[in-house]
Amino acid sequence: MGREVRLFIDGEWIESESDARIESRNPASPDEVVARVSRATSAEAERAVETAASASESWADRTPHERGDVLREAAAIVDDRTEEIAELIVREMGKTISAARGEVQRGIDLFDYYSQIARDYDGVKRPSADSNTLAYTEREPLGVAAAITPWNFPFAIPAWKIAPALVSGNAVAFKPASSTPATGAAITRALADAGLPDGVLNFVPGSGSDVGSVLTEHPAVDAISFTGSTGVGSSVQRTASGEGKRVQCEMGGKNPIVVDPSADLELAVELTVGGAFGLAGQACTATSRAIVFEEIYHEYLEALVDAVEALRVGDPLDPATDTGPKASADNLEEDLAYVQAGRDQGATVVTGGRRIEDPELASGHYVEPTVLADVTSEMTVAQEEIFGPVLSVLSVADYEEAIAVANDVEYGLSASICTNRLDHAKSFASDVDVGVVKVNQTSTGVELQLPFGGKKQSSSETFKEQGRQAIDFYTHEKAVYVT
Ligand code: NAP
Repeated sequence: MGREVRLFIDGEWIESESDARIESRNPASPDEVVARVSRATSAEAERAVETAASASESWADRTPHERGDVLREAAAIVDDRTEEIAELIVREMGKTISAARGEVQRGIDLFDYYSQIARDYDGVKRPSADSNTLAYTEREPLGVAAAITPWNFPFAIPAWKIAPALVSGNAVAFKPASSTPATGAAITRALADAGLPDGVLNFVPGSGSDVGSVLTEHPAVDAISFTGSTGVGSSVQRTASGEGKRVQCEMGGKNPIVVDPSADLELAVELTVGGAFGLAGQACTATSRAIVFEEIYHEYLEALVDAVEALRVGDPLDPATDTGPKASADNLEEDLAYVQAGRDQGATVVTGGRRIEDPELASGHYVEPTVLADVTSEMTVAQEEIFGPVLSVLSVADYEEAIAVANDVEYGLSASICTNRLDHAKSFASDVDVGVVKVNQTSTGVELQLPFGGKKQSSSETFKEQGRQAIDFYTHEKAVYVT
């Protein structure tokens, strides 16, 4: 039957007045209902915002230490619940159990990190021109922050939005993705159990068009932190910034790995496979294009295909599985349509390209890890975000062409290069037009103490997420002069 999940408004878990339910289902076994979740109405989303607005002043009056203590307690609670939450993530969106445990650990680390920042995030002191004047800056919270999140990191992304918002003194209205609401409830429950005062965090699962629109437009929302597709994010950004709100949107990617002839080929293949096929390609930073110098193209492709064919696709709860199912039937169909578009435009499917037919997996949303060769930069598969385990391999003559191809997309999230040439590594870091650059690492995976965000259509480019920079988004910095 699945677990029952309710809305959380003003410190109470309540049924929606609509009686409507969101059902989350297990992508490995879609007959299994993981959770039935009360679907918030627009009126309940408004109530969540208004409750947050009322609670925000007294929360802002607490010292940063007190706010940080709640996060520290939440980290301990999540630590105790790691296995339960990790299994919930697997069953709601299909990533492997080891990836899900890693995601929960990231949530714990984020709570710990921002609880430490609470102790020293405040403003700066500067010498005044007047020796009798004390000149310094002071941070104040914005008021109410809305967090709108996607399904692919249903625990870590809410954590990296909610933790800095709370610690800097804001109240929050949180809308999870409709396909992962129970994981969203788990993070809300941990913070509530950690002693967050009533009304400071409100959880409103519901549709993007109802709840998402209310959070985007409500006059009492001061800041919106959105992560999701470029289509929805661009519209959220237009609407919210038109209404004078502070907006941060992190969106899609089309991330390359460049492989030059100096690279360790084995490493290049390992990085490509890890970046492209982990999480079934469903990471915003997933490697989607391999841009390979022509002199090593065939050797690289052969080794790549061998490694991809050795991947074990299967039950995400089985620790031996390398990559699990797609999150939904629609996502799987989109992957297959992209593969067909690639074929139609002249690409060659060198491995994969079909739904998995193994009878044990046939009921789940499983697709073969797919490599397309002979891809050129103007093809649809080299331009659009696929968000699945479909990698395009492109051949280039030299470094200049590699950079031109890497930058020849509307996205600019992450990029990686595999090389043993320091000049290529250094030039790549400055030449590639993205927010996250990796040298001899996968394009996926970031550390929480550094700012995270993209360029071009990948990001609103206003404020970064994570690191200390997240505090800048959620606060005003005032200059104060005292004589
Ligand atoms: P999505 O469809 O854009 O949804 C993201 C969130 O926006 C969901 O909570 C969704 O609610 C909500 N939403 C939908 N319509 C809305 C509206 N009109 N107003 C306000 N909110 C609305 O994205 P997704 O499919 O969940 O996630 C995949 C995308 O996220 C990919 O493009 C991926 O690259 C991107 N992503 C980016 C990052 C990054 O940091 N750059 C990280 C992870 C994922 P419903 O679920 O109810 O529709």
